[in-house]
This record gives sequence, C-alpha cells and structure tokens, in this order.
Amino acid sequence: MSDAGMVIVGAGEAGANAALTLRDKGWTGSITLIGEQPHAPYELPPLSKAVMTAADEPAAPTILDESRIREKNIDFRAPSPAASIDAGKHCVVLDSGKQIPYQKLLLATGARARPLAAAGSAEILYLRSFADAQAIRARLLPGAHIGIIGGGFIGLELAASASQRGCRVTVLEMAPDILMRGVPRELADIIGTRHRKAGVDLRTGVTIRGFAGAGSRQSILLADGSRIDCEAIIAGVGAIPETKLAEACGLRIENGIRVDEQLMTSEPDIFAAGDCCSFPHALYDGRRIRLEAWRNARDQGATAAANMLGAGVTYDAVPSFWSDQYELTLRIAGLTDAASHSVSRDLGEGLSFTFHLAEDGRLVAASSIGPDSRIAKEIRLAEMLIAKRLHPDPKALMSSDIRLKSLLAA
Ligand SMILES: Cc1cc2nc3c(=O)[nH]c(=O)nc-3n(C[C@H](O)[C@H](O)[C@H](O)COP(=O)(O)OP(=O)(O)OC[C@H]3O[C@@H](n4cnc5c(N)ncnc54)[C@H](O)[C@@H]3O)c2cc1C
Repeated sequence: MSDAGMVIVGAGEAGANAALTLRDKGWTGSITLIGEQPHAPYELPPLSKAVMTAADEPAAPTILDESRIREKNIDFRAPSPAASIDAGKHCVVLDSGKQIPYQKLLLATGARARPLAAAGSAEILYLRSFADAQAIRARLLPGAHIGIIGGGFIGLELAASASQRGCRVTVLEMAPDILMRGVPRELADIIGTRHRKAGVDLRTGVTIRGFAGAGSRQSILLADGSRIDCEAIIAGVGAIPETKLAEACGLRIENGIRVDEQLMTSEPDIFAAGDCCSFPHALYDGRRIRLEAWRNARDQGATAAANMLGAGVTYDAVPSFWSDQYELTLRIAGLTDAASHSVSRDLGEGLSFTFHLAEDGRLVAASSIGPDSRIAKEIRLAEMLIAKRLHPDPKALMSSDIRLKSLLAA
C-alpha cells in the first residue's frame, strides 16, 4: 500500500514513546497512534498515588498533550479502539470499520486488571485507567472503610493513599505474606510495618468466601466465618496482558505477545512493546520474561520504534521498578529471582541496600527502600554494574567505605 506508514495500537507509555521516537529518529512519513480511551496518552504510576491523594480533582497525567501531538505531526485517533488486524493486507481495522494501512505495526496494548475469581455479582473496583482512578477516588472519603483485596503493589499503594485520605483500610492477602513476587522479604517487612503504623489492618493468609450487600454497604465474607463491612471494595490481584488483537490475527502468544530480542513478533512487520509482550532477556541467558514496569514500557517503545526503522537493536535494558508508599520509595533493579544469595550494605540511619548475586557471583539485582533522595543514585550505579555483567567482590559491595562508582571502573 503506497500511503501506508507507521501504525501504533495502544496510546499508553510504550505507544506514545514509540511515536515520539519514530519522529526523533527522522521518520517523516505518517505515524498513526490509535487509542481506545477518550484521553491524550497518560501515565499510569500516578493513578494509585498522586491522583488519589491530590487535594483538588486531578486531571489525567498526560504524557503527550494535543499541542505536542500536532507539533510532531502524529495522527492520533481516540477514542477509536482497533478491532482487528489483517496481517496479509497489512492493515488495522478500527471499531468504526475504517482500515488503516501499515508498513510496520507496533502493538502496545498494555494489560488489564485481573478480575477477582470469587467476585460473582459483587461491585468490585479495579485500577488500570484514569476512569478507574476517578471512580476509586470518589469513594475514598474520610472515615470510610475501604476493603482492599491483594497485598501486591497496586493494593498497597492504594492502601497508603486511602489511609492518607483519612479512610480506614483493611488489606486482605491470600498468600502467607505481602509482596510475594520478586520483593526481598526484608523490604516487604519494612513496608508491612509502615502500613500497620499508619493504622492499616493488614491480614495475610486470608481466604475470601464471598461478598454481600451493594453500593456503599458491602461486606467481604471470610472463610473463618468473620465479615468485613466496608463502603468500597477494591481488588488489586494482578494484570493480564492484552493480547486479543494479536491472538486473533495468529501471532504467537506466550505469557503475552511473544517477541524476539528485537521486539519483533512472529510476523516480521509487527512489533510489540510494554506490558503486553514477553521477550527473551539477553542479560539473563535469554530467559523469557514479561514485565509490568513503567521504564520497561517506555524503553521498549523506543527500541521497537528504532527497529521498525530497521535499526536491528537488541533490547537488553536492566529491569527497573519503583513503588512509592507514604514517605518510602522501594526500588528494584534487575531480577532478584535470578540470584542464589545476597549481601547488604549499611547506608546509615537504618537504611540498607541489598545486592543479589547469582551462583557464580555475578551481580543480577539490587534492591533498597527509603527516602528516594537516599537510594536513587545508588540504584542507578548498581544498574550499571548489573548491565556490565560484573562479578564484584561481595566484601566490596558490603563495605560502605567503597564507592559503587569505583567498582564500575574496576
Ligand atoms: C495504577 C498503576 C500504578 C503503577 N505504578 C508503577 C510504579 O510506581 N512503578 C513502575 O515501574 N510501574 C508502575 N506501573 C506499571 C506501569 O505503569 C506500566 O507497566 C506501564 O504503564 C505499561 O505501559 P504500556 O504502554 O505497556 O501499557 P498501558 O500504559 O496500559 O497502555 C496500553 C494502552 O493500550 C490501549 N489499548 C488496549 N487495547 C487497545 C485497542 N484494541 N485499541 C486501541 N487501544 C488499545 C489501552 O487503553 C491503553 O491505553 C503502574 C501501573 C498501574 C496500573
């Protein structure tokens, strides 16, 4: 198709950054960015934090506003969900029936909140979009009792925000502990203690039997026979990669849209980036992973755009994640589950920094929690050590007299 250009489905973090990168890298042809929501592209991380706690009614935290979209000559279509892809004809079909031809296509469709299996007809709130955030915020009234199901990042960030708004909060986690996936126990314990100090009723190892009531008079029924009466119930029990379009057009799926190290799907002219895709990570022996993290989405959007233009770049950025709860920031670089042992460095004032090492002594992850001003720089340096695949002397990692920068030079 002669008028075909670059088409991106999904106007979130990965999609918006891909559109900007295409222009920054000199692509002068058309860029069509297809979004299903009635907003300019916006960030998700503030939805569980600043959007919940802001004193005044907040606006969507926009990544790319209308003037920037015009300046970059991006054809932004929203709300305009993509309904299907015809890979043979190289076109995306919108809900309206309109066909958008593409030379190269990027799928950046993100993920959706996992529905609670036991929900039945109960009115459960979930958080993935700005509209979800507005609906939740409206229920966080001072004194209201909020039941949060799930002690993962979304549930705990919402618990912190709700308690900061003056709500009474109960968090129910089915597992024996909070933050069971990829978070070192010492850090999870610090977070748990902070929540309890704020008055959050944090219960683990809980089984939910069902729900009763409706609207702002609901109850969560527990297997031990007790009930928790609350004004709103929110579930944060994980996310499911959004793969419907990809599946329907025959792309390979494997815990998300399967891409290679250059983010190309099983169709050479279709790429995928962000929460929706799984990729082999070169830093971790090609292990296939899917990340739900802001920086991964942004960086994969940029790499996919470069590769749509033929750069042939391998995506091997160190995984990076943060979570803000109260005055604390948790930061993790790398994959903690690739480690066999860990050593800690004392940063003073009760702050510690943990390095996670593989069996052969290679540094594969680092984690810390504290005020961000104290840990962000150290984590960045640790990321550089991880990216260089170094095997630092554990004694040097433990000694706060030895600067991480000097280990980089070594
Ligand atoms: C509440 C919340 C808080 C978070 N906090 C943090 C944090 O503190 N730190 C961190 O590292 N990460 C955080 N994350 C994760 C991070 O924000 C995500 O990993 C990242 O935004 C994913 O970007 P994405 O572009 O892959 O997906 P998204 O940003 O979800 O974008 C996907 C877009 O595709 C659209 N779409 C889907 N299907 C179609 C279709 N058929 N047609 C058109 N459009 C479609 C969706 O509507 C959506 O706008 C948080 C996530 C959430 C939900």
